[in-house]
Amino acid sequence: MTKRVCVIGAGAAGLAAAKYSLAQGLEVEVFEQTNSVGGTWVYSEQTGCHSSMYQNLKTNLPKEVMQFRDVPFRSELPSFLTHEDVLEYLQEFSRGLPINFNQTVESVERIDNMWKVTTHHGTGINEQLFDIVFVCNGHYFEPNNPYKDNDFQGTLIHSHDYRRAKDYIDKEVIVIGAGPSGIDIALQLSDTARKITLISRKATYPTLPENITQISQHVKKVVENGCETDDGTVITADTIIVCTGYFYRYPFLNDEILQVKENNQLVSPIFEHVVHADYPDSLFFIGLNLVTITFPLFEYQVKMALAFATGKAPIPDRQVLIDYERNQIEHQKSRGLETRFYHLLQNEQWEYLRRIAKIGGFEEWPYMKTIENITQYLHEQRKSNVIGYKNINFKLSDDGMDYEVVRC
Ligand SMILES: Cc1cc2nc3c(=O)[nH]c(=O)nc-3n(C[C@H](O)[C@H](O)[C@H](O)COP(=O)(O)OP(=O)(O)OC[C@H]3O[C@@H](n4cnc5c(N)ncnc54)[C@H](O)[C@@H]3O)c2cc1C
Repeated sequence: MTKRVCVIGAGAAGLAAAKYSLAQGLEVEVFEQTNSVGGTWVYSEQTGCHSSMYQNLKTNLPKEVMQFRDVPFRSELPSFLTHEDVLEYLQEFSRGLPINFNQTVESVERIDNMWKVTTHHGTGINEQLFDIVFVCNGHYFEPNNPYKDNDFQGTLIHSHDYRRAKDYIDKEVIVIGAGPSGIDIALQLSDTARKITLISRKATYPTLPENITQISQHVKKVVENGCETDDGTVITADTIIVCTGYFYRYPFLNDEILQVKENNQLVSPIFEHVVHADYPDSLFFIGLNLVTITFPLFEYQVKMALAFATGKAPIPDRQVLIDYERNQIEHQKSRGLETRFYHLLQNEQWEYLRRIAKIGGFEEWPYMKTIENITQYLHEQRKSNVIGYKNINFKLSDDGMDYEVVRC
């Protein structure tokens, strides 16, 4: 009998899971809690929604790196895209997929070797049994805000609720954290705010606009008039934007099935960031990683998962699946990373992709080498020219195996 697949979420990861499951002849149902596809890429003027998207975001990866296999972005678009461009791409990609909108997955339970999925829609409850579940609910919606409790007299928000630079005209703003969102928001604010102080453990950018000061410190606490750093310095401001990342969250899975450890930063027990160690042929997580390329990586992860689910690739011994977590914690330690960075791949992503292709027994995508080369080139550009790197455009050779930078 044809296996039934449940996909939770119609963001980029869920769309990839649905598309490739259908291509394998499986029966698929996608459940999406909102009324549209795209997840993160659905911009809303209002705060308090799933997406953390802001108005004038330009992607931090170019379209040449973000595309799914054989589905290029429109050729007339520049390399660095607006959120509208990415949303349009995902809408196109989702055409014909069986998506149930306005259906929130409330619980996923194991019953008689099947998954009972309960969804909530308006006033009704729906229960269905599935053989396979792909968890694709994203991990940029639950703010990790260590400074939530404070006596600050001004406005303090998490980057999840940042929307527009024009809301900060003439303000003195502290941005805590200089990850992808922190630096990008600080640069956007440099056009409107009077003064921006970017505080992070490491001040990494050699050149920033004049009104941004970088401080290499950790914020000990937020005080009435600003932030106090570990060395006792108080930096004053009228606005604080906390860019300290997000928690992983799976309210529909009970903690006998899934644990989220290390201050909600480590999803457990998962093999190779995808495969549940206790249900390796039926429960999968797509897109858990941090600091990686996104859509092509989701595609590889889905392919490995499907190879296990359909018996096309042998599932490793149970001990290998179980030991993965301990080994990965040790491995990250050896890279100088704390356990909260368990899912961070960064420059190890290329080796990871090659490894999961091998484990899943599927052919690597030759173009992935071009993606790797462009990403590495950009890594250097971002460090030396964080203000201007998004003006770069790439031109691919006819066979896609080479690229040139056409405008800086
Ligand atoms: C501000 C910001 C900028 C980014 N910029 C880039 C970039 O430039 N380039 C890049 O490649 N990546 C970028 N990313 C990463 C981005 O998140 C990924 O590209 C990708 O969109 C993640 O897709 P996803 O499907 O994993 O999650 P999401 O896009 O978050 O989708 C998850 C979906 O699941 C749904 N859902 C959640 N819970 C339930 C439930 N219980 N029941 C039903 N549905 C549910 C949500 O409504 C949502 O539609 C950025 C992220 C953020 C936050």
